[in-house]
Amino acid sequence: MRKLVIDNDECIGCGTCAELYPELFELNEDEGKAYVIAGDKCGASDCEEAAGTCPVEAITLEEG
Ligand code: SF4
Repeated sequence: MRKLVIDNDECIGCGTCAELYPELFELNEDEGKAYVIAGDKCGASDCEEAAGTCPVEAITLEEG
């Protein structure tokens, strides 16, 4: 099953992912970093599209 992963070194905290897919991501405004909250929900949500929303390509889909 594929899982969403955010590379927090790459994340610039723009918030786009959390705004468009609040069921998958959460933005920590103090840190200015987004986190995956339900990376295993691919299927219920379109994770490829969700990963594609990141302007710096910090979101990837990993097999696992
Ligand atoms: S869209 Fe990308 S850069 Fe923006 S908050 Fe999400 S992971 Fe970070």
